[in-house]
Amino acid sequence: MTAPVVDTSPKVSDEIRKTTCYMCACRCGINVHLKDGKVAYIEGNRDHPVNKGVLCAKGSSGIMQVNAPSRLRAPLKRTGPRGSGEFQEISWEEALELARSWLEPVRKSAPEKLAFFTGRDQSQSFTSFWAQNFGTPNYAAHGGFCSVNMATAGIYTMGGAFWEFGQPDWDHTKLFMIFGVAEDHDSNPIKMGLGKLKARGGKVIGVNPIRSGYNAIADEWVGITPGTDGLFISSLIHVLLKAGKVDLSYLAQFTNAPCLVNATPGSSEEGLLIRNDDGKPLVIDRASGTLQPFDKQGVKPDLAAQVDMDGVTHKTVFQHLADRFLSDDHSPEAVSEQCGVRPGRIRAIAAELARVAFEEAFELDQPWTDFRGTRHEKMLGRPVSFHAMRGISAHSNGFQTCRALHVLQILLGTVEVPGGFRFKPPYPKPVEAHPTPHCHSKPDCPLDGPHLGFVRSPADLALKEDGTPARIDKAFTWENPLSAHGLMHMVISNAHAGDPYKIDTLFLYMANMAWNSSMNTRGVMDMLTDKDENGDYVIPRIIYSDAYSSEMVAYADLILPDTTYLERHDCISLLDRPICEADAAADAIRWPVIEPDRDVRGFQSVLVDLGARLKLPGFVDENGAALYKDYADYMVNHQRRPGIGPLAGFRGNGTQTGRGDVNPDQLQRYIDNGSFFVEHVPDEASYYKPWNAAYQDWAVGLGFYDAPQPYLFQLYAEPLRRFQLAAEGHGERQPPDHLRQQIKDYLDPLPVWYPPIEDGAVDTEAYPVHALTQRPMAMYHSWGSQNAWLRQIHGRNPLYVPTKIWQENGFNDGDWARLTSVHGEITVPVAHMAGLNENTVWTWNAIGKRKGAWALDDDAPEATSGFLLNHLIHELLPPKGDGLRWSNSDPVTGQAAWFDLRVRIEKASAPAESQPAFGPLKSPVGKGPATVQQKVTS
Ligand code: SF4
Repeated sequence: MTAPVVDTSPKVSDEIRKTTCYMCACRCGINVHLKDGKVAYIEGNRDHPVNKGVLCAKGSSGIMQVNAPSRLRAPLKRTGPRGSGEFQEISWEEALELARSWLEPVRKSAPEKLAFFTGRDQSQSFTSFWAQNFGTPNYAAHGGFCSVNMATAGIYTMGGAFWEFGQPDWDHTKLFMIFGVAEDHDSNPIKMGLGKLKARGGKVIGVNPIRSGYNAIADEWVGITPGTDGLFISSLIHVLLKAGKVDLSYLAQFTNAPCLVNATPGSSEEGLLIRNDDGKPLVIDRASGTLQPFDKQGVKPDLAAQVDMDGVTHKTVFQHLADRFLSDDHSPEAVSEQCGVRPGRIRAIAAELARVAFEEAFELDQPWTDFRGTRHEKMLGRPVSFHAMRGISAHSNGFQTCRALHVLQILLGTVEVPGGFRFKPPYPKPVEAHPTPHCHSKPDCPLDGPHLGFVRSPADLALKEDGTPARIDKAFTWENPLSAHGLMHMVISNAHAGDPYKIDTLFLYMANMAWNSSMNTRGVMDMLTDKDENGDYVIPRIIYSDAYSSEMVAYADLILPDTTYLERHDCISLLDRPICEADAAADAIRWPVIEPDRDVRGFQSVLVDLGARLKLPGFVDENGAALYKDYADYMVNHQRRPGIGPLAGFRGNGTQTGRGDVNPDQLQRYIDNGSFFVEHVPDEASYYKPWNAAYQDWAVGLGFYDAPQPYLFQLYAEPLRRFQLAAEGHGERQPPDHLRQQIKDYLDPLPVWYPPIEDGAVDTEAYPVHALTQRPMAMYHSWGSQNAWLRQIHGRNPLYVPTKIWQENGFNDGDWARLTSVHGEITVPVAHMAGLNENTVWTWNAIGKRKGAWALDDDAPEATSGFLLNHLIHELLPPKGDGLRWSNSDPVTGQAAWFDLRVRIEKASAPAESQPAFGPLKSPVGKGPATVQQKVTS
């Protein structure tokens, strides 16, 4: 019998267009196959630096994203009460004029009365430019409720962080330790890296209360108690220091470990680094025994130096660090019970880290020159790398936990060395290379500078003359001084409370704040619909832009419908969050590979139009004429600094990179090149980037900064100490008395661990169980909610319960449970999971949906058995009797403490559907068809 002939590669398209995926934030390259002008198939682009042809389930399901029935079809003006979902379709001209008529008086009288916040979009350098020219201080993206702890701890410690800022050296690493990472995160790149690592016989240690995704394929899984990662890491540091297994040479050369700390008691300099008249930190040179600036040529800094001056002995950062971490408080025995990890296991992991870092060290035959002018003939490799994300950062102790992890990496000498963690250009960049926050607004004027930045001291806080917060989200205040990404989760509740002031217009993009992006979801819906004594909405106007009929749509007054990602121009820019790899600078575009079949416009083009209508500087010329036709025009012609634009590739005559004149053909050059541009890091510059003269020169050439700026890793974070000094009474800007102790306790310049703040605010015996969410690998936030293929993978989300709690409650398959927090209760279906911390329950994030949203049927599983944990979490902690309500955030950065949640669980009789249930919203797009069919014939 002859085998049937099967064509495994049928021709499915008559044209292939290359663009960039946006089914999650990894931004892989994709080849979109078109048949008769319709998307027929999506495959990975093998030439692309991010994914090299790999495509995940989400990426290939993009075809159902551009066909989703939930796509908005035209601008909408609210006709019914807020929350009803009743709208009328209007023209773009009417919509834009309406927006202009609302925003123009605000700009001319009090620009701060516009609060403009965006979700997980990828055009923040553009949206912030718009907001800055509007003049409002109230702008940020979603980072405050996502992973600002990770970003800030990374920048303040080593000038870069995980995710877009860096990656393991997948080609050389042998031991990879991953903390609190959901499996959707950095999806294809991590999966490809894990594949490489495992093929070489490398080892993966996963630290996460939940054993799913990356943790499921880890060689070792540490099912840690939520919120105790910092304690566990501190104990690893304790063991390594005690055994002398730290990289002293690396610490002495490249970190502030040898810098001397001023010990003069009670002085305004106490705890700051001792500096010379040029402001350079001083070290003791081992050869001469003299005080020298850290970067002087030939200096060999002494980690153990002590200096007596004016009767006071000053010690190095390294000695302060050793004093802290060698304390018995950090011994494995002391932390074991809280972390849920046996002492022997902590010692074994520390020993494994030390063995691989030091006994499997290797050298690359690559000479390089450091910033002190010293030539090194080899590059020393330490093949241990780390990665971490939201699991450790979304706690109220997350900033200091992330700091502790970076300090562990640095003590092992595994950052920016072969085999370790590597930065992706334009990182590394020290704090000093970033702006400070700006907040001074004046009628009819742009803001005085960029909104977001990195504070160096209390002088940089966003406070008004009278000391009250300048921003609606109270970012950069004494409550959370280092809130580099703002606090989006506080915007609606503060605007509703008129605290610190009332606003006029709330303008949101791609942020589902009436559902899965908010804590206290029901409360937020009430705030958005609440009226004052005159019958007017407390938040007077809400403008929202989204591509889909999400829950938030029903709560807006004006909807500006966005396109899908295949119908638009986008810019994945080096000015923003680019697609670089450790070996290359890269950026990318999206372009309309298909035309919209609805009356929708790309949001960024809408902002360009609105900017011109409002005559914002940067959007009109001196005669008031529009500078840009649309976002594509802006991407090509805008220059942030002379010669530096949103896109780094094909500038000038098409051959210039980084710096260069505008090239009118730039977008076509990108399209011809697969929609990306890549420039490789020279070999001599590929590691040791913060201290490598060749890298610094290359970075200046590309325009990342204008002069070389080598710096030291900050084991000791001096900016935090400046806040403590203020809390101790030094300086002109003083915190309110009720915050002094908090600042002294939490803004410690060395990593410190304290229990999640909710643990001290609730009775943990009444609420003994931790509750978490994770994003699934096949769905990114709620973006997949309307995707017919992805819904088949994740259409419902049981509450996963560990064996101990399952047995204690006598649960069986099909049972339901009531989960109660100090804030509320939900009743939901349960499922048993053995690979789970024994005191933790969890569920997938953002699967539960409200009836009427996303064009789903009212009996869709997402709306009947799906649910959100958000109902159990509040943006404020419970009252503690001092007359104040404290934010449920990290007191250093303001990061939303989603994962501090404590609950109790009990068996419940099965309700008709998950509780709380909400009435259906009216859908402005109707419902989807029963079946979706598309046949491609060759
Ligand atoms: S990892 Fe993200 S960007 Fe890459 S193919 Fe999957 S969904 Fe698209």
